[in-house]
Amino acid sequence: MERIRIPISAIGEILYCPRNFYYRVMEKANDYNHHVLKGKIEENKRNEKEKLKTRERSKIRNVYLESEEYNMVGVLDEIEEKDGQYYPVEYKKGKKQNNINDHVQLCCQALLIEANMNVSLEKGYIYYSSSYEKGEVYFTEELRELTINAIENANKIIEEEIIPPPINDNRCEGKIKK
Ligand code: SF4
Repeated sequence: MERIRIPISAIGEILYCPRNFYYRVMEKANDYNHHVLKGKIEENKRNEKEKLKTRERSKIRNVYLESEEYNMVGVLDEIEEKDGQYYPVEYKKGKKQNNINDHVQLCCQALLIEANMNVSLEKGYIYYSSSYEKGEVYFTEELRELTINAIENANKIIEEEIIPPPINDNRCEGKIKK
């Protein structure tokens, strides 16, 4: 069987609850199969004008990227380019918040861009649709280390195929699976 790749959209689960990551990714492997993801995005692209250009900057939307090195795959909402610098841009529902899981997810996008485009990224942005606010996220050494650790933990779960133990604390409130 083909090895499951880490979907960026599920990386936050590793920080929140590794067991939940297992349920989400391993038990729904088909939904996250990278061929399926790629097919969906190519279909979207046919229906959408994907590249928007202004005088100062260009944006590419719905970008499918994968990395052998990280065993990771994702569809990025948007990559913005300005003066030769690239910035991942993620769109979130709700109001602006300082959520480390969101920062790790954005940092995963940065790692994918760096791996595929041979560039180095300084920062990215998260847009919050309810408050129309933009958050700036710097890819610091600390955030990169946290992100790499999350990726390593996710890959360990995928390789070992062992369900992590329940965390049994208040994070479990309101959750279905135990
Ligand atoms: S109920 Fe608790 S241990 Fe189980 S998946 Fe949810 S958060 Fe994790």
